[in-house]
Amino acid sequence: MTNPEKHDNWTDCRGGEIASLSHRLRQKRESVNSRRRIMYSSITAAMLIIGVGLGLVMTQLPTNHPDGLACAEVADYSKDYFAHQLKPEIVDRIEMHLDHCKRCRDHYAEYQEDHSKQHTKHTNTALLPVLAFR
Ligand SMILES: [Zn+2]
Repeated sequence: MTNPEKHDNWTDCRGGEIASLSHRLRQKRESVNSRRRIMYSSITAAMLIIGVGLGLVMTQLPTNHPDGLACAEVADYSKDYFAHQLKPEIVDRIEMHLDHCKRCRDHYAEYQEDHSKQHTKHTNTALLPVLAFR
């Protein structure tokens, strides 16, 4: 059932040709594989970076909270908040934010503690000029 005429077009393989061909194919496959590995790991890394970045953006975005304040803003307001130098509507928004944001609540509690310590220190030193006038 073989067709001898077709085989006439074939030439004999030179020594080592098959071996070098398979070697070349194997090398090619390995480079494709390693490129694929690099691609997969870089995709994974990119996804991780995007994920982390997105997470960071989400926590920083003002729209993340119904009060329209980002945690960073709330933290910035803490000084003025305890100094009672904020508009009532801002105070309302901060308090709304503190209601649902444990992180900022902790921050404010910490700040209040520090502030109350500083406050007593300030009142003590503030008395000195008054005493000096007498
Ligand atoms: Zn917050």
